[in-house]
Amino acid sequence: MQSIPLSSPDLTDAERQAVSAVLLTPYLSMGSEIKAFENAFEALTGCQCAIGVNSGTAGLHLCVHAAGIQEGDLVITTPFSFVASTNVLLFERAVPIFVDIETLTGNIDPHLVEAAAHDLAARGHAARRWLPPRGASETAPLKAILPVDVFGQPADMDGIQQTAQSYRLKVIEDSCEALGAEYKGRLAGTLGDYGVFAFYPNKQITTGEGGCIVTNDAQAAGRMTALRNQGRAPGDTWLQHTYLGYNYRLDEMSAALGRVQLKRLDELLIKRQQVADWYANHLQGVEGLEIPTVASTTTRMSWFVYVVRCAPELDRSAIAAALGKRGIPTRPYFLPIHLQPYMVEKFGYRPGMFPIAEDLGQRGLALPFSSVMTQQQVEYVCEGLREVLRNS
Ligand SMILES: *Cc1c(COP(=O)(O)O)cnc(C)c1O
Repeated sequence: MQSIPLSSPDLTDAERQAVSAVLLTPYLSMGSEIKAFENAFEALTGCQCAIGVNSGTAGLHLCVHAAGIQEGDLVITTPFSFVASTNVLLFERAVPIFVDIETLTGNIDPHLVEAAAHDLAARGHAARRWLPPRGASETAPLKAILPVDVFGQPADMDGIQQTAQSYRLKVIEDSCEALGAEYKGRLAGTLGDYGVFAFYPNKQITTGEGGCIVTNDAQAAGRMTALRNQGRAPGDTWLQHTYLGYNYRLDEMSAALGRVQLKRLDELLIKRQQVADWYANHLQGVEGLEIPTVASTTTRMSWFVYVVRCAPELDRSAIAAALGKRGIPTRPYFLPIHLQPYMVEKFGYRPGMFPIAEDLGQRGLALPFSSVMTQQQVEYVCEGLREVLRNS
């Protein structure tokens, strides 16, 4: 029996040497590596400012600050995401307004975003139906939209941008799963006011822990740079703090690792595409299984995870258990955010409120996926899956 990891970083001697080189200097934080890492992100995205941080969550949190989102403010976002995209709103006591998603991509539905913005901007009675059962005021201002590029596929950003313009909303694009993806030829993360990437070891590139914000808003970037560094504004000494800030700094070893990884981005995305293609070839037409779909607006997919959908009548957890016995780990992807226990407690959400997100949440199963997977490993997973499905 083989044992295949669910995900794996893709590291070479170049990464190891870059990290070792930092360790030969006394500069382990706030040195030249983070600056170079940020410059590389500015070059890649064409954005004026890139700000390295110590996680994607930290990056999103700083964007929430930059967008002026405060206690009680409303922000339209998706329940079908990793929890961080909603948690950063809760950190500031803002209220996530969930709208349901598109079946094809799992991304937020731009028509629902428009409808919600329309009603919420009017406030009062019309706003009521978009609010959570409790914990929000119908007279609260709508401040922003926070779409997520789910599984490496950009959200349908044109409609979202149009809504944002109509109602003067900020857009925070959570591209933590979509580094290098393209929407109608434009790079994910550059399509809103602020974009955020993340570099946990299961992402397309890794720094161990880390993230990066990109924006063309230089003023906001200045504020986020200060907040990242304990609230120190330019000119502040080590013990002067103009703002209430955080320690969200990315260290030099991580930045050095990330710089090498970023240089390899194209290679890594091509390898991930190849693995996704192998999966598609082996799983196409398998009964009881839907393979991922790429929308026509996605001109480049940046495969983050490979999530298949089990037919509704199948028992997903039994399938996962049977695969586990064959050394094939899997993971349900995602458990919708509104049904996480702390969200139910805080806002009173109930099953059935976001049926598409819940349906995909019940049927999605992430298979082992990384750029270092071999064709033979993919075949082993697919053979196991086909066999398990035949027996169920
Ligand atoms: C990975 C990820 C993040 C950030 O995660 P960190 O572990 O904080 O780097 C944020 N949003 C989404 C959708 C993610 O997948």
